[in-house]
Amino acid sequence: SLPKPPSEPMLNYAPGSPERAALAEALTEVSGEVVDIPCVVNGEEVYTGDVVEQVMPTRHSHVLARVHRASQETVQAAIDASLEARAEWAAMPAEARFAIFRKAADLVASKHRAKMCATVMLGTGKNVWQAEIDAAVETIDFFRFNTAFAEDIYAMQPPQNAPGNWNRSEYRPLEGFVLAVSPFNFCAIGANLCTAPAMMGNTVVWKPASTAALGNYYVYNILREAGLPDGVINFVPGSGPVIGDTCLNSPHLGGLHFTGSTETFNSLSHAITSNYGKYVGYPRVVGETGGKNFHFLHASADVRSAVNNTLRGAFEYQGQKCSATSRLYVPASLWDEVRDSLVAEMANIKVGQPYEFDAFMTAVIDKSSFDNISRYLAAAAAAPDAEVLAGGSADDSEGYFVEPTLIHTTDPHFLTMEEEIFGPVLTAYVYDDDKFEETLEVCASTSPYALTGAVFARDADALLTADAALKDAAGNFYVNDKSTGAVVGAQPFGGARASGTNDKAGSALNLLRWVSARTIKENY
Ligand code: GLU
Repeated sequence: SLPKPPSEPMLNYAPGSPERAALAEALTEVSGEVVDIPCVVNGEEVYTGDVVEQVMPTRHSHVLARVHRASQETVQAAIDASLEARAEWAAMPAEARFAIFRKAADLVASKHRAKMCATVMLGTGKNVWQAEIDAAVETIDFFRFNTAFAEDIYAMQPPQNAPGNWNRSEYRPLEGFVLAVSPFNFCAIGANLCTAPAMMGNTVVWKPASTAALGNYYVYNILREAGLPDGVINFVPGSGPVIGDTCLNSPHLGGLHFTGSTETFNSLSHAITSNYGKYVGYPRVVGETGGKNFHFLHASADVRSAVNNTLRGAFEYQGQKCSATSRLYVPASLWDEVRDSLVAEMANIKVGQPYEFDAFMTAVIDKSSFDNISRYLAAAAAAPDAEVLAGGSADDSEGYFVEPTLIHTTDPHFLTMEEEIFGPVLTAYVYDDDKFEETLEVCASTSPYALTGAVFARDADALLTADAALKDAAGNFYVNDKSTGAVVGAQPFGGARASGTNDKAGSALNLLRWVSARTIKENY
């Protein structure tokens, strides 16, 4: 295996630092303009006029962008452009392709960092550190690490050659085009979903979430600035059904690279399998979907560390990471201390604007998310077997603000213990200390998801017991650390069950999905 690049260091935005000054300027610039975001097909910008606005989640009267939604014809043109660009892109030496993504990483790191962060802060409601992690560090790391993993894949060769013949493997891109569908919550995920297949020689139709189109459009422009040829990735924001139907009904669909809801992934996967026989081959389907992620405390846990990690896991980015902590299991012997610390710390959480450096949280992404979370808050307030211990209210008069909320339930199957909420809502269940193993079983089987989870314990036997019991309950499992914050190059990310196909973003396992190997035996 070849040496890998180091992770991009995170900037700290200390008062007086150059990055803080650059960010202030970028925030002024981004908030002072309304950007018209076109579709980009074969390098040509298409302003369809069918516009949806991207607003600030924290101030919904403030429009940041007008997103031109792709029509069916535009999507078809994007498919055609991908197919047209494919031969030349696939034939390009892999190192020449990689150079483009490495250059894009350097451009984000050195030239566009402040603007990328400002865009993600104002556009999707991240505070500065969450934006730095996403728009800078993770985006850069995806580009750099994935090219390194790709080199390892191309180096994989059959170990045996008999005298008189030479065996080798070639890694071709998939036949056709890849559809990438990306969510609002990480700009880096959009960057990864469209570039991982492209690195391996595929051409792509990319549908970003309209609520995050601005950040994704900037990433896309950085890729173009880095030298991405026309037609290799075509940018088509717009309606899910219009884009999905057109792409999934094309006989040339080669693959789907998706992050979003389980429900949408189910319907896209279903549409693909029901089209088997119409396609040239069997499209590769890679999806990362929902989660209902747990923190499980054993009686030997370090309470302070468990509480701090839980606050971060549950409430950073308003609980809108797929990996966000949303179920908490606490032994009765620790409950008073855990509850009191959580409630006290939550009272200190400042919910504010993304540009306020002391705001730990801001607003959730949009009205439909706000309404959905509000329904869970109302259900918890009304349920006899649940009690709201902190937070519980929400206000969308200016922005989509939801208080950090802690629910205590006596029913381990209460709906907020089972359903994904995608907001700042944490539900705690208290178990008898002598029911550790039974409660692990409940935790392992309560939710249909299996994305991330964590166990907190100092007792080594308890850690082993938890590890064994929770084997299938999380694709990313943390020991004495929070359920969020997978680092590219360190913790390949993904889960199984209803959380997706577990093709680990940020690893060779993911990139392998975007090649179709050809084995050659040559006699000489
Ligand atoms: N990779 C992110 C994390 O570990 C989550 C990605 C997601 O929300 O899909 O926190």
